[in-house]
Amino acid sequence: MAVLHDPQTLGMAPTLAERFPELALVWRCHIDLTDAAPSALEFVRSYLETVDRMVVTLPEYADPLGDVPATVVPPAIDPLTAKNRPPSALSDPPDAADRPFDPDRPLVVQVSRFDPWKDPLGVLEVHRRVADRVPGAQLVLAGAMPDDDPEGEAVYREVAAAADDDPDVHLLTDLPDAGINALQRHADVVLQKSLREGFALTVSEALWKETPVVGTTVGGIPLQVDDGESGFLEAPDDLEAVADDVVDLLESPSRRGRFGERGRETVRERFLTPRLLADHLELIATAS
Ligand code: UDP
Repeated sequence: MAVLHDPQTLGMAPTLAERFPELALVWRCHIDLTDAAPSALEFVRSYLETVDRMVVTLPEYADPLGDVPATVVPPAIDPLTAKNRPPSALSDPPDAADRPFDPDRPLVVQVSRFDPWKDPLGVLEVHRRVADRVPGAQLVLAGAMPDDDPEGEAVYREVAAAADDDPDVHLLTDLPDAGINALQRHADVVLQKSLREGFALTVSEALWKETPVVGTTVGGIPLQVDDGESGFLEAPDDLEAVADDVVDLLESPSRRGRFGERGRETVRERFLTPRLLADHLELIATAS
């Protein structure tokens, strides 16, 4: 069996099918296809003829390509990587002196590409509303600049302008994994205020570190956050509700503790690599 990840590799399918006619071909699609442009869907479909099965994160993601057999497998995080290990197990932990924020004041973090779907401008607005009610609240927006995301730099510039030199807003780019790890651990609340999402690995990454998550009801976020148990879920455009949730958590260390423990258990049960491995073994058994 060969698994092709995401649209970028799908173009290999016809050649693989020709060279290895016995090989089962699986396309692992990580994105939400439910609102895809018809021309993009047709382009993808033109490569799917030789694919035996697609794998999606949520059942509805497969609907627009309804004639292709689909299996639902949510992604998972690897607890042994530098991004997810406990700090004591890191060979090269980040230096606490390099932190741009004050470790003694409330900290809200969103880790996401600088992309309109991750709504960094909405996150800034949430921060403003939170900071009016929680003195000293700080925000970190940590975002990579992937080479395959040409919009990133323009969005970053727009967010930096909107942040308007607020000393309590920190835009951090291209942190190493151990740095992301430290941020997700140090945060009092992790935000994932996406307008659209595939799965949002960042949610499981935060919950695994016992940090509660305030997220939106899009893509894979509700799959990971139990509303009122490990975090809160709100409609993507409801800035006030998101701000209320953040304030609620910042003001209640005991609730943060309870939510954090529950979040870690959810990830342990459903979003770590052993479950992903089991799903793939089943896939191999089905596909071959
Ligand atoms: N990420 C990172 N550095 C950053 C921003 C993001 O390492 O500055 C990682 C993040 O920890 C996660 C992945 O990139 O593992 C993003 O995955 P997710 O599913 O949340 O969103 P996507 O970018 O795939 O839409």
